[in-house]
Amino acid sequence: LLDAISDQAAIAIERINLATDIDQARVIAETERLRSALLTSISHDLRTPLSSIIGSVTSLRSFGKSFDGETRDELLLTIQEEAERLNRFVGNILDMTKLESGSLRPKDGPVDPEDTIFAATRAASRLLTHHRLVLEIAPDLPLLRLDSILFGQVLFNLLDNAAKYAPHGTAITIRAQLSDDNLRIQVMDEGPGIPPQDLERIFDKFFRVHGGDRRRAGTGLGLAICRGFVEAMGGQIFAENRPDRSGACIIIAFPGKLTVSRSEIDQLTDE
Ligand code: ADP
Repeated sequence: LLDAISDQAAIAIERINLATDIDQARVIAETERLRSALLTSISHDLRTPLSSIIGSVTSLRSFGKSFDGETRDELLLTIQEEAERLNRFVGNILDMTKLESGSLRPKDGPVDPEDTIFAATRAASRLLTHHRLVLEIAPDLPLLRLDSILFGQVLFNLLDNAAKYAPHGTAITIRAQLSDDNLRIQVMDEGPGIPPQDLERIFDKFFRVHGGDRRRAGTGLGLAICRGFVEAMGGQIFAENRPDRSGACIIIAFPGKLTVSRSEIDQLTDE
């Protein structure tokens, strides 16, 4: 009997070793896939704005004196917008690195959600010039234990996407309300929406619906970062399509336990 047990144990160990080897091989293959996806994405996403910056600067330097004011302003605006795009891109990579290395430590200060929504819309205002922004913020939302920088970054990424994927002239709506005790924030647009089979996958790193569609530059990192940040703060984020019309709706939910209580607020105001 002992021999039989020992044989079975030896077989089991061999299986475990084999499984570990396969797991390791899988991890290596996945790391390699992500590394090359990152490199492809980086080289494309750095090149496109850089080429347009170089093109605009070259025209300004060569022919600037003969351009009228309007043409010069347009070229300068292109340079500014493309530089901002590069900046967002680098910001995304840094955020992702923070998430992956586990070095993200969200603050849990009291945050007024309305203030953060206003701040994010101001930060994204240059991206929203071709859309109509509608704010539906319920009065007297409670203060929450959140990191206002991370929360603002999430809202900024969602507004960036809405502006990127929904046609010019359409409305982008941010709705914030309490549902039971939870704070629910919806960012809704009137764009094409998201294919039902991709509603979950859009939060994966590097996943892009129509991955080959390069007309709308992007890294496929924005929503992965949003999910990482929201979950790190104790909330949830998911996507739906609008039931009433065409368009995507990204929903963030923060549970009631993150609400700062009245007595804590009194304590804070006393300090
Ligand atoms: P990126 O926008 O850089 O590609 P994201 O992670 O922000 O990366 O989004 C992943 C994918 O989800 C996008 O490529 C796009 O296909 C889809 N997506 C995100 N937001 C929207 C939206 N508001 N409307 C339609 N599709 C969207």
